[in-house]
Amino acid sequence: MELDAALGLIARVPDFPEPGVLFRDLSPLFAHGDGFRTVADALAATVEPDVDLLAAVEARGFVLAAAVGYARGLGVVLVRKPGKLPSVAGRVDYALEYGTASLELPENVVPRDANVAVVDDVLATGGTVNAACQLLEKAGAVVSGVSVVLELAALSGRTVLDGRRVHSLQVV
Ligand code: AMP
Repeated sequence: MELDAALGLIARVPDFPEPGVLFRDLSPLFAHGDGFRTVADALAATVEPDVDLLAAVEARGFVLAAAVGYARGLGVVLVRKPGKLPSVAGRVDYALEYGTASLELPENVVPRDANVAVVDDVLATGGTVNAACQLLEKAGAVVSGVSVVLELAALSGRTVLDGRRVHSLQVV
């Protein structure tokens, strides 16, 4: 399947979860075998050769990073919403396009000086991925790059991630 056709499987849902937000729902893409493999392979190709480890943002980032990790022979550290991890290396609170949120990093999983690539589905304001980058950097890792499926250009997430390499399969 062509990448454009695979990306076309992503649904656009107006006014979810709040009025004024055009939600990009990857569920139909995840459920489509060819489409999912096409996108996972394309995302895997954006991960720099020097990367040691992937970091995935809960929850859709988990699905993507698992496939990318398998394709590239890389492990995945799960950056989680609060209350899920028995032992936490760090926590960051941040603002979302809609509301606020927090992320936590598991303890003793990310080696110091590891080159880590962050994987998520959508880069909107950049707050989520930036929080994941901060957690990793506080743990002594180096964020080698950020790979996302969709980048919402109007929300300027790339600006927040200033200085980090951002790879998006599609900018909308
Ligand atoms: P942000 O922190 O604003 O960059 O938002 C990125 C996170 O929120 C990602 O984990 C996305 O899954 C989710 N998200 C934000 N905006 C949207 C959107 N318009 N459609 C789908 N997911 C979104």
